[in-house]
Amino acid sequence: LSSRLRGFGTTVFAEMSALALATGSVNLGQGFPDYPGPREVLDVARGAIGTSADQYPPGPGIPELRAAIAGHQQRFSGLTYDPDTEVLVTAGATEALAATMLALLEPGDEVVLFEPVYDSYSASVAMAGGVVRAVPLHPPVDGTGPWTFDEARLRAAVTPRTRLLLVNTPHNPTGKVFTSEELALLADLAKQHDLTVLTDEVYEHLVFDGARHVSPAGLPGMRERTLVVSSAGKTFNVTGWKVGWICGPAPLVAAVRTAKQFLTYVNAGPFQPAVAAGLRLPDAYFAAAAGDLQRRRDVLVAGLAGAGLPVISPEATYFATVDVRPVRPDGDGLAFCRALPDLAGVVAIPTVVFYTPEHADLGRHLVRFAFCKSDALLADAVERLRRLG
Ligand code: PMP
Ligand code: GLN
Repeated sequence: LSSRLRGFGTTVFAEMSALALATGSVNLGQGFPDYPGPREVLDVARGAIGTSADQYPPGPGIPELRAAIAGHQQRFSGLTYDPDTEVLVTAGATEALAATMLALLEPGDEVVLFEPVYDSYSASVAMAGGVVRAVPLHPPVDGTGPWTFDEARLRAAVTPRTRLLLVNTPHNPTGKVFTSEELALLADLAKQHDLTVLTDEVYEHLVFDGARHVSPAGLPGMRERTLVVSSAGKTFNVTGWKVGWICGPAPLVAAVRTAKQFLTYVNAGPFQPAVAAGLRLPDAYFAAAAGDLQRRRDVLVAGLAGAGLPVISPEATYFATVDVRPVRPDGDGLAFCRALPDLAGVVAIPTVVFYTPEHADLGRHLVRFAFCKSDALLADAVERLRRLG
């Protein structure tokens, strides 16, 4: 393994999904739904297989999908993007993020991000020769209210080497939705230091209890310095399709396209028209998807609380966070997750894996559980978790 990738072994998601299979546990680790996406979307994909859609699509993505992405951004963020020059289809959000790092970072350039942090970010920065500057998010003190960060620490993380501010809202693994005020602070920093903002919005539609997703690209003066990434996986329950996209000003998108050309060239022929159909679904689809997931959240949160685990109920995403200390006084979340298949027949992800070593203590006692699961599976999981009580 090259020095760039040293320390990045197998992803925790692969390790924990394998543990679930090997132990016959209910897998509340890796975030993927076990129920299908909308029929209108699946039918288009089925119909596209066996047609010319099976061959290489155009480099930036099929025109129909790029138009649908631009339409979706207009509808939900009020932002206008030119489908020909300001929209690029990628192999999931993951490729959009990695291609951006490769396109924009010089060796030694710094990327400021919040942690806990989704695992691919640090690896992508490292592959591009960049350096991560992590600003910690603090859990709500009494388990309710939002995760917060310290403004002074954010400001101090920006140096003359900073090139990118990377924000994930709604945020994995905490379920935090960044507020307009928090994003305005980021926007001010970006403008003051002439930085590009990269925003990962894959959970943009999975927001609960009237919380509102805000894209930093929509703040004054930000469209021209922001790259917005999202993906079909979460919005249409098709995480295995790996269709993502990136929108932004033409020169930045052209740079990302240059990197994408040599990573995957193109991707997901038959799924592209299907995702286009999904992005054109009426507003009611998107609202119903959030409402449905909110109901699943409530079931799991109640089950975890019933098992004696204090839960931080999320405002968005697929994930709830628990504090393991009442059932595990040493506060070792990783050991808790390794023991959970035996104790209860359930698999979860230790939040500590989303921290850099510098701040690992902050997440040591926390564990992430996914609730994007069918009613039957959630009921089974809740029943099993009772064994902890
Ligand atoms: N960003 C975040 C915050 C995620 O949770 C995930 C996992 N779904 C991704 C990116 C990856 O998205 P994709 O599967 O579209 O590459
Ligand atoms: N985003 C999902 C999660 O956080 C899946 C990640 C993955 O498999 N790489 O669980």
